Amino acid sequence: MFEDLRGKRALVTGAFGGLGSHFARVLAGAGVRVALAGRRIEAGEPAVAQIEQEGGAACVVSMDVTSTASVTDAFEAAESQLGGPVQIVVNNAGIAVTRPAAECDEDDWQSVIDVNLNGAWRVAQTAGQRMIAHGQGSIINIASILGLRVAQQVPAYAAAKAGLIHLTQALALEWARHGVRVNALAPGYIETDLNREFFASEAGQALIRRVPQRRIGQPEHLDGALLLLASDAATFMTGAVLAVDGGHLVSSL
Ligand code: NAP
Repeated sequence: MFEDLRGKRALVTGAFGGLGSHFARVLAGAGVRVALAGRRIEAGEPAVAQIEQEGGAACVVSMDVTSTASVTDAFEAAESQLGGPVQIVVNNAGIAVTRPAAECDEDDWQSVIDVNLNGAWRVAQTAGQRMIAHGQGSIINIASILGLRVAQQVPAYAAAKAGLIHLTQALALEWARHGVRVNALAPGYIETDLNREFFASEAGQALIRRVPQRRIGQPEHLDGALLLLASDAATFMTGAVLAVDGGHLVSSL
């Protein structure tokens, strides 16, 4: 079903983190040539080696999403290393600050907004400009169920992800006529190295009991939605928000 992906070129931001490295591997496994973009270049080489070992093709480019120049340079580098324009972008870089709203300082707020909303905008705009020039492309913004419902102590994160979902729809509207699709993937709680300890704790177990499926997600639970949004199988989908959350969004109020 996703055969059209074979030979396409993609760029994944935040590609050395938990979900980003997984997204890169999944795309590479479908035959996509992938540029892994991130700040910690040294973490990229083993990721590329693993993809190549699995028969895929990948390269590393340096990108800090808080700098427009860095985003532009990264696209240039990716296109030159991949041998052509980027056709799929996974806009995944993100950070979280967990603190009660009343105690957040200016820096807590600004840092999260600058990566999760402004950074995602910089990447999406740069990708969109290039994709418009070639008349095709798929941008997948990695949002969160916290962009659709709220939890405590992550006010900037929730606001940024809600903004990213609205931005997804605004860009989808403008760029549909240019053959560029823009969709959002909104994961629920997904187990990665960063949160594994928390989910094993009593507080983590209590959270899991509130998820209708009574489990947290694994990165591979996002594979179907990722490949669908990337591929021509979703040719009539743009401006969509796909939640993959074990039913968390429909948990009882
Ligand atoms: P993660 O392991 O912390 O990965 C985040 C990545 O973003 C890291 O590779 C980090 O790079 C990168 N990043 C941060 N600031 C950056 C910047 N200024 N420029 C470029 N890259 C930057 O977190 P994750 O769980 O994989 O999350 C990935 C995405 O999924 C995020 O957008 C997150 O909000 C979203 N999400 C995650 C979950 C979940 O349960 N895990 C649920 C919903 C949504 P460095 O390593 O260089 O800092």
